[in-house]
Amino acid sequence: MKRIGVLTSGGDAPGMNAAIRAVVRTGISKGMTVLGVRRGYNGLILDRTETPEIEADIVELSVRSVSDIIQRGGTLLYSARCQEFRYESGLQKAKATCERHGIEGLVVIGGDGSFRGAADLSARGIACVGIPGTIDNDIAMTDYTIGYDTAMNTAMELVDKLRDTAQSHDRCTVVEVMGRNAGYIALNTGVSCGATAILTRETGTSAEDVITRIKNTQTTGKHHFIVVMCEGVGNAAEVAKEIEKHTGVESRASVLGHVQRGGSPTVRDRVAASRLGHRAVELLSNGIGNRVVGFDRNELVDFDIQDALRMTKEFDFSLYNVGMDISF
Ligand code: ADP
Repeated sequence: MKRIGVLTSGGDAPGMNAAIRAVVRTGISKGMTVLGVRRGYNGLILDRTETPEIEADIVELSVRSVSDIIQRGGTLLYSARCQEFRYESGLQKAKATCERHGIEGLVVIGGDGSFRGAADLSARGIACVGIPGTIDNDIAMTDYTIGYDTAMNTAMELVDKLRDTAQSHDRCTVVEVMGRNAGYIALNTGVSCGATAILTRETGTSAEDVITRIKNTQTTGKHHFIVVMCEGVGNAAEVAKEIEKHTGVESRASVLGHVQRGGSPTVRDRVAASRLGHRAVELLSNGIGNRVVGFDRNELVDFDIQDALRMTKEFDFSLYNVGMDISF
């Protein structure tokens, strides 16, 4: 393979830039030309490369064009969702664009949705390799996804700040963190911040459970409390109101939101992104497509995309139990 593309798709995550850098540098060191596709699959469908007044959707990336990005959050290729790519018409446009640019292989950095698209495009003759990039760590085939560590550390730092003010006023702080499909950020933030209660879809913790835990903890002389909720399991303001009503502890709600998606990636995210990017290009250079790369206990692994999408991931209840056993 002599010409490959790289794109970032779906929700952005810190470390995507480090992965792009690894893909570009590995490709060039193997004698390939590497093209950057902007705004996810939209770039393959729009293909405004010949429209001087509009930023090109597909650009050749040099060794130097990925300088000074390993430490930056976000993605220099932009990320987006693309409805049209879900339909045959969109896939055919994307395939035609790849053929026009001589793109034989494509590295797709994103989540499960992006991998479905990569499988569809692979089935139409463009060899795709997926790299798991999402702060939620909700991809079953890998123990670890790019952005997860940075997001958890951001959430932890912010909850630490909320703890200071909760402690000063004998309050309860109810914090909603990200993780629409998975409670891993909530679990690890909760344990690392000493949360009295953690609410995720997997744990099924109710507002009543939280109130019981706070009441039990009050008997030990504790005056301030942290409750961590995963987005999608309820409304933080309502939970705070219930806590205040039933325990008498003044309660405040905070939704951390998109701040968790930004920031300079941690060591773990930069190293993971570099390793995954390098392996993805190795596969393409050996003519292997329709794969997703990931980690199994810190060892690089790769799977057929369809097989990867059928896998399921276990929630770490033993970690949850540790958190609950020591936070009272
Ligand atoms: P993520 O990759 O973070 O899971 P999405 O689920 O939004 O994010 O998917 C990103 C993009 O991948 C979508 O906008 C679409 O272009 C493509 N995609 C998602 N699901 C499919 C699918 N079933 N078939 C083809 N393309 C898909």
